[in-house]
Amino acid sequence: MESKNGSKKTRSKKGTNKKYKRICKRCGKVFFIVNIFDTKRNRAIYCSDECKSRKYFINASYFDTITPDSSYWLGFIYGSSVIRNITTISIFSRSKPMLESFNKYLNSTYLIRNSTNVITKEKKFRIDIHNTSFLNSLFNHGMIIRDNLKLELPILAIKSDFIRGYLDSDNGFVYQEGSQNIIVLHSISITLLSEISNIIGGKIFSNQNQWSLIVKNAELHYTLLYNNSTLYDINKKSKFINSN
Ligand SMILES: [Zn+2]
Repeated sequence: MESKNGSKKTRSKKGTNKKYKRICKRCGKVFFIVNIFDTKRNRAIYCSDECKSRKYFINASYFDTITPDSSYWLGFIYGSSVIRNITTISIFSRSKPMLESFNKYLNSTYLIRNSTNVITKEKKFRIDIHNTSFLNSLFNHGMIIRDNLKLELPILAIKSDFIRGYLDSDNGFVYQEGSQNIIVLHSISITLLSEISNIIGGKIFSNQNQWSLIVKNAELHYTLLYNNSTLYDINKKSKFINSN
């Protein structure tokens, strides 16, 4: 007995150029499909196989639009993270609420984990994000794999919001000293600190194997930095003298 097999009709429709716009459920990216029936069959939910197999969500196109908020988070990432390879970034903070806020703004479901520095034993929190589209947008804003030495102030970011984000990272500090405030920003990139210094002044010092920008009378930059924004680390903002 023989049965015929492989004879199912596979009629493909050609000649229709219409594309249907979809938004990836995992990364938020816009993509297009040609077969509208895919949506009815519950396909066409994710933009790529990478997204299909991915467990966690993040708005991967968050930094494609420059706003005060996205500039702030870019500054925070510049000050707090390591890009390990083309797919992975680790974002660190001593403040769990800061990372919770990051997740909220970027619609991220990535887990906040405990992290202990192997050398200093300092305990922090971290988020590891695995997402090539997200990483690509950071590369477009000047971030570099494992090379924070070459970081520069990103051209597109709103500078005052970027600096506030950097201040709120683990590389930013605010002190009260007498009747004035002092801001200290650390980086291994002297170029980045020089460019920030062009905006908020201060002097750069060599500090072990990195650089430190020290800005005295930093309360003079309070209005520039905060500019009625609702996005900031309350612990740092509250240290400003004469701030309200
Ligand atoms: Zn996607």
